Amino acid sequence: MTETLLDVRDLRVHFPIYSTGIRRKEVARVQAVDGVSLSIGAGETVGLVGESGCGKTTTGLAILRLVEPTDGSVSFDGDEVGNLSKGELRKLRKRAAMIFQDPFASLDPRMSIGDSISEPLLIHKLFPDRNDRIDRTCQLLEKVGLSPNYRDRFPHEFSGGQRQRVGIARALATEPDFVVCDEPIAALDVSIQAQVMNLLEDLQDELGLTYLFIAHDLSAVQHLSDRVAVMYLGRIAEVADRSQFSAGLKHPYAESLLSAVPIPDPHLERTRERILLEGDVASPLDPPPGCRFHTRCPYATERCSNEEPSLRDLGGGHQVACHLYD
Ligand code: SF4
Repeated sequence: MTETLLDVRDLRVHFPIYSTGIRRKEVARVQAVDGVSLSIGAGETVGLVGESGCGKTTTGLAILRLVEPTDGSVSFDGDEVGNLSKGELRKLRKRAAMIFQDPFASLDPRMSIGDSISEPLLIHKLFPDRNDRIDRTCQLLEKVGLSPNYRDRFPHEFSGGQRQRVGIARALATEPDFVVCDEPIAALDVSIQAQVMNLLEDLQDELGLTYLFIAHDLSAVQHLSDRVAVMYLGRIAEVADRSQFSAGLKHPYAESLLSAVPIPDPHLERTRERILLEGDVASPLDPPPGCRFHTRCPYATERCSNEEPSLRDLGGGHQVACHLYD
């Protein structure tokens, strides 16, 4: 059994909404993440999947304490992230990095890509000698399949796929153990997506990385992930490993996501049934009582609108939050 690197328990991130005017007061709370529990073993890849706005990116940011959790616990390699001092937090940021969805927005347009990649080395006081830093930057560029000669170029001189490679090189500069990949292929052309996925897979094999891979559809994560966690409106709906995933997801929301994954066999693809959900996604400002999915679930009963289902283990770590499996 692999050693647990990250253990998240009952994580909540609520953002207060304030009234305007001189006497600002809190009028509502966006419950972006509301009770997420998840653990990731060293060297493992967990895919975190869900619709836009379900709280998956906020979960990734809160794990790295790039947003402050409202409640809950995040333990990284045995250390409680919420209790870390500034200095200890800096050490965590060396070991845990993030790759962002939009590489154009995450790179400073006024900095050469060499400077962007070497910036974390300066922040963490690694390679204090300038020439060593340049060598390290060249190595990182080569590692992500770019020529070291591009070091002095600027982000606008690259394609989307190349910019994402630069973002990956920057994330890997400090030799992290753990990387949150926040929809790293979503902004790329379909033709480039597979190349970036293959690069992330190769880097994981070579460097022994642990990934939390965030995506809005299952097709993006199913090949890369050892386990998949499906998230809906701030909560985990299902967690399944590869074999459980292949045997079929159980939660009605996860089932509907799975039915949208393209099948390579054209005959099967033509004949399979897609589950189309009706109804709007409820707002995290005012989530419905009971099961948060009950407003769209084809199997919802009265109990579902009153009683919140808890995440239950169906065996072998396959967890589902649905009254159908009580
Ligand atoms: Fe559907 Fe009820 Fe299960 Fe929620 S608990 S997913 S509403 S059947």
